[in-house]
Amino acid sequence: MWRATFQDVFNDEGVKIALPRYIEILKGKKLPKYIIDRQYPALYTKEMPLTELWKIHQKMLKNYPEFEAKTIDKKSALDSSFLSLKSDIAERIISSCTFCERRCKKNRLLGEKGYCGCGKNFSFSSAFPHFGEEPELVPSGTVFTCGCTIKCIHCQNYEISQWYDKGLEINPKQMATTVDNLKNSGCRNLNMVGGEPTPNTYLWIKTMNEVTVSIPTIWNSNSYYSLETANLLAGFIDVYLLDFKYGNNTCAQEISDAPNYFEACTRNHLMAKEHGELIIRVLVLPGHNNCCTRPILEWIAKNLGEWTRVNLLFQYRPEWQASKRKELTRKLSRDEINEALKIAKEVGLKNIV
Ligand code: SF4
Repeated sequence: MWRATFQDVFNDEGVKIALPRYIEILKGKKLPKYIIDRQYPALYTKEMPLTELWKIHQKMLKNYPEFEAKTIDKKSALDSSFLSLKSDIAERIISSCTFCERRCKKNRLLGEKGYCGCGKNFSFSSAFPHFGEEPELVPSGTVFTCGCTIKCIHCQNYEISQWYDKGLEINPKQMATTVDNLKNSGCRNLNMVGGEPTPNTYLWIKTMNEVTVSIPTIWNSNSYYSLETANLLAGFIDVYLLDFKYGNNTCAQEISDAPNYFEACTRNHLMAKEHGELIIRVLVLPGHNNCCTRPILEWIAKNLGEWTRVNLLFQYRPEWQASKRKELTRKLSRDEINEALKIAKEVGLKNIV
């Protein structure tokens, strides 16, 4: 199988514009954010009210670029750091869970479960070097875990997203060993997937405190996470690989059971651009070019810029419960594919994968 060499990645104009920091990490000239976070001193105590912890967090986030500019040590870690602060805030959140827009407020540390069905540890499905991701990412150290915050009726990973596969319960220390192994087997990055990574935000932050290797992090999400999660990811994630699934809330509700998807998704894309580097995936659905593909691509061009890196995906196939909607029972037609490409051109997008 074809694999982009480092030279291919560095020389691709679209990659250079969208992912300059990621390239620098691969070259060893910059550090992944979780390593910087471990060295960024935080003055707080675990007992402080959550509002105080957030205040300190947001102030540190504002000063992050200044601290990053002077961080050079790859090894040292502090007990009280930006990463430990994130972990302590995330621990409060998981005990009244609001990691995603559903805001179930279940105490997952005490065994309660919300809509996603996730518990207090990872439900691990598999981890391996993935060669099917965007060229600049492969081989990508992809970690699949069970559970998801939405229910797309056509989900291709429904076995793990909807718990037909229960997974293996592992803790952050064990996950850190998996991450080390992925890096040592030649993966360019850590790709946190699912199901959906959002319910595991706390666990991923704890994991990255234990990881011994240096590896850029990819947040591979359906974009339906809460503002609190978006803030925790800021200054933690290097590259956001975000789905932009729907151009309106009716389609999001009917196909994915995701109320207010458009508001959450657009807010999270804006924050991803502000705090990291971004690749957007748009899965083109049959019969949805007018209601979804066009408004999505128009929004991206208008709000994130014409050089936003967008992967238009044409591999839709009916899976799981897709037969519930007539238009989703077939693959895309050639005309629909051409129409989606035409829309991308019309709205001025210049960085299509
Ligand atoms: S992550 Fe899961 S438990 Fe938490 S708010 Fe979302 S669906 Fe509910």
